[in-house]
Amino acid sequence: MTEQASQSPVTAAPAGAEPSPASPGAVELPFQAEVQQVLSLVINSLYANQEVFLRELISNASDALDKARFLALTRKDASEQEGEPKIKITLNDDARTLTIEDNGVGMTRDEVIHNLGTIAKSGSLEFLKAHAEAMKSNKDGAVKLIGQFGVGFYAAFMVASRVDVDTRSMLPGSEPVLWRSGGAGTFTVLEGSRDNPGTTITLHLKDEAREYTKAWRIKEIIRKYSDFVHFPIEVGGEVANRSKAIWTLPKSQVTEEQHEEFFHHVTGGYEGEKPLHHIHLSIDAPVQFHALLYVPEKAPPDLFQRDRRSIRLYAKRVLIIEDCDKVAPIYLRFLRGVVDSEDLSLNVSREMLQEDKALKQIEQQVTKQVLKSFKDLAESDPDKYAKLWSEFGKVLKEGVSVDYKNRDTIADLCRFGAMSEPDGKLISLKQYVDAMPSSQKDIYYITGPNRRAVEQSPHLEAFKKRGYDVLFLIDPVDEWVVQSLNEYDKRRMRSVAQGDIDLGDDQAKADDKAGEEVKAAVEAVKGALGDRVKDVRASKRLTDSASCLVSAEGDIGVNMERIMRMIGESAPEAKRILELNPGHAIVRNLNILAERAPGSDQLKLWAELLYEQALLAEGMVTDPARLVRHIQELLTQASTAAVGGDGKGPVV
Ligand code: ADP
Ligand code: MG
Repeated sequence: MTEQASQSPVTAAPAGAEPSPASPGAVELPFQAEVQQVLSLVINSLYANQEVFLRELISNASDALDKARFLALTRKDASEQEGEPKIKITLNDDARTLTIEDNGVGMTRDEVIHNLGTIAKSGSLEFLKAHAEAMKSNKDGAVKLIGQFGVGFYAAFMVASRVDVDTRSMLPGSEPVLWRSGGAGTFTVLEGSRDNPGTTITLHLKDEAREYTKAWRIKEIIRKYSDFVHFPIEVGGEVANRSKAIWTLPKSQVTEEQHEEFFHHVTGGYEGEKPLHHIHLSIDAPVQFHALLYVPEKAPPDLFQRDRRSIRLYAKRVLIIEDCDKVAPIYLRFLRGVVDSEDLSLNVSREMLQEDKALKQIEQQVTKQVLKSFKDLAESDPDKYAKLWSEFGKVLKEGVSVDYKNRDTIADLCRFGAMSEPDGKLISLKQYVDAMPSSQKDIYYITGPNRRAVEQSPHLEAFKKRGYDVLFLIDPVDEWVVQSLNEYDKRRMRSVAQGDIDLGDDQAKADDKAGEEVKAAVEAVKGALGDRVKDVRASKRLTDSASCLVSAEGDIGVNMERIMRMIGESAPEAKRILELNPGHAIVRNLNILAERAPGSDQLKLWAELLYEQALLAEGMVTDPARLVRHIQELLTQASTAAVGGDGKGPVV
């Protein structure tokens, strides 16, 4: 190798790079094939998110400082660190260079050769694989990959035409080494110049990367990705990062002011906006992570977009992804804040594509702990929880249908309106069950478009009479909630507008008997309505109204039909059952008429009206003109009878 070593390394430098003096002991070595492939991709991609190169170099410096601390503790013969641990960035606009220096562990000659060029890291290999995959489907996607992956040190070549790494290891007897490359095929190793342990990396910036010699720009990038790196990062003699990652502190040490400030930082929110609630977690097993999550006071306008995510994912205090969709389930998408794990590498995104196990465990823990925290809040501060529910309940509820494992916990967090709360206060399922009279077995609910509509419903009558409460489920998502939540506390959830209601008490027996008495009316109405209804029967759920419509057990309800149509889905119109109140004067009179004059026109008119008024009570009349005609006819008959006229005209 000595022959090669005596040659000038300049031959390996690309056009435009500064010539470097020939140096004794210089050795030019080829990059490993995979490394070269990664480098070519990085250099040649029109890459949108170049700024991450700085994140990568800072995180390497931070790792080197961590390792230095460890080495100082474990090896007595290691050289001492010079000064306080820190990362220093120097910018030179004239020379177009950016230098990043750390007084960390440094590298020996062998290490520098291995780490920076000859052994492709598993991250690089994964990157190549994923890149090839992405290229098959979508070129833009392939370009974006680089930013997601974090190709580590090689990211420097996105912005630099030449990189110099001057390093000296803390290990005893280490000499300074200089590693230098233009990223094309080879790198050169020669004698370095550092007097003490650490690493100085100089980027000779490409013309189009000149912005990275501007201090404001560098500070901006640091604040974005590296704000919480726990060593000071100096730019032009000033510390540019806040370094204190409050999520790593013990809970009790974080003040309200700090929470507010940090909430602002993560939300970019406006002045005065405060978090409603926070969840601060420090978990060690099975995966180590810290999380600091906030529930905002107000729901953002895009809350219902299901791809909305606002949790930042950090690995060892370095930002990896601004909106991570893997650390909390979709129904907690209103949470803002950070998750930071020691057990993730900066290359985490590559594993994410493969359904990373550590991330799954983090998600499970986050979910469990957040739900627990909501439950505690609901108990300790019901008013505050009510606020949380009113802003985010609609989203949280989705969990009942999508998260089978936590279904019961989420059901406990749900709040609904109820017949027993005329002023609109919301109650929990537990409160409902606790207040049930001993004769009541099931939990009853009614669904509908709004409170007014369900409040007026004739379906409530039998329950009101018995003192049974009925839950008002008036959010569209409630239809899905009740479909998934068949039971709560071993009690069936039953719609008051669906199926046969047999409440099994004395009243029910009396209803059976009354039903027998209006058989003729039932048959007559059945004949008059034909196949417009599925069936006609005597009702056990009406006390005041003459008639109502119910869905057959297992059929899709009217409200669900309405919602399906609203969201543009086709909904089969299920025929319904008309129930007649056997205790009502109209039905009893109709029964007499049916016995006396079966098939009369008057009977048909009454049947129509009983059907139409049931529709009207639900606001579902499809043919108002027809209804008006029927009412007019009836009024004509009634008024004529009242005055004893012949029904042909005004009586003068
Ligand atoms: P990663 O950080 O994921 O290991 P990188 O490509 O960023 O991969 O870095 C490759 C290796 O080079 C690191 O693992 C480390 O051993 C070495 N290295 C990079 N920068 C430094 C530095 N500033 N000080 C010491 N070693 C470094
Ligand atoms: Mg790295």
